[in-house]
Amino acid sequence: PVVLGIETSCDETGIGIVRGRTLLANVISSSMDEHARYGGVVPEVAARAHLEAINPALEAAFAEAGIGFAELDAIAVTSGPGLSGALMVGVGAAKALAVATGKPLYAVNHLVGHVGADVLDAEPLEYPTVALLVSGGHTSLLVVRDLVGDVELLGETIDDAAGEAFDKVARILGLPYPGGPQIDRAAVGGDPTAIRFPRGLMLPKDLERHRYDFSFSGLKTAVARWVEKAQDAGEEVPVADVAASFREAVVDVLLTKAFRACADLGIPRLLLGGGVVANARVREAAAERAAAQGVQLRIPPLALCTDNGAMIAALGAQLVAAGHRPSGLGFGADSTLPVTEIQVDELAAPA
Ligand code: ATP
Ligand code: MG
Ligand code: FE
Repeated sequence: PVVLGIETSCDETGIGIVRGRTLLANVISSSMDEHARYGGVVPEVAARAHLEAINPALEAAFAEAGIGFAELDAIAVTSGPGLSGALMVGVGAAKALAVATGKPLYAVNHLVGHVGADVLDAEPLEYPTVALLVSGGHTSLLVVRDLVGDVELLGETIDDAAGEAFDKVARILGLPYPGGPQIDRAAVGGDPTAIRFPRGLMLPKDLERHRYDFSFSGLKTAVARWVEKAQDAGEEVPVADVAASFREAVVDVLLTKAFRACADLGIPRLLLGGGVVANARVREAAAERAAAQGVQLRIPPLALCTDNGAMIAALGAQLVAAGHRPSGLGFGADSTLPVTEIQVDELAAPA
């Protein structure tokens, strides 16, 4: 099926068009630059930017795909989670298009979209698979038995998300927002073993209650203390070493827990998704461990890791292909939609 995907959950206006698992267009308009001077995404600024960007992005996507509205089989839109005002722009546009064109509308989960991004221009997923979702707002370990039917939450962060930790540590190091790519760049040439930063929830006593959970706020505080101490002592902060050592601590915990889940559950498949999967060290270390443990690893191409409309279109196409019913028009934006809710029908109280 040919499906249009609309994504406005945070600061990227993403419009994607797919035919089944084939990517036809992926247009992204980001308001990131407008947020940089505030050090983080400002919800009102993001919502306004979506309003301005969405029509040009739609036009550009149809031009890129070389098709018109008439050729669509369905429309998919991110219903949540994300910033309410930002989500509402996409949801409103999608409903208007659905009414105007008469095409069926699917309201889908942004997080499941991240996890399923790797199906584009690739083989279908094999089930079950362990999935690690690492993004700006989430860090979750999942068992996916069916991307459009059965996603189970094994564990998640008990405080900060991994992407949030990257953003906060970048700020500590005086690097601009968003922090992930900045830390990646700053870490080049740095020694990942220079500083032994703490690994959250990795002690034997944690393994019972928090075997698959994550914690990154202690790590962030440890980096802040370390940098302060160096500054107080009048030393120059070795930014490359701090960035490399911090990144190594995050990657170590993420991958240790993900590969442990594969071993525990006897599932030799691991799927990665979310903005942090754009990280060079995450990608490299995951490939190394997968080879060593005989796990089949799937990582989306760089451009499909951070927020985009193509992953939403792809999830919509899989829902259509599996014969799921459309969502209707009774749903709203749900800022806290849980990852286990793949498709949304009606919400009692739209946010
Ligand atoms: P969520 O998907 O949880 O709603 P989000 O949509 O804001 O959150 P994403 O777009 O998936 O998050 O990812 C953005 C996050 O990814 C930011 O925190 C950013 O710092 C991080 N990120 C992007 N590139 C990299 C990188 N190269 N290394 C590490 N982190 C990165
Ligand atoms: Mg973003
Ligand atoms: Fe996201």
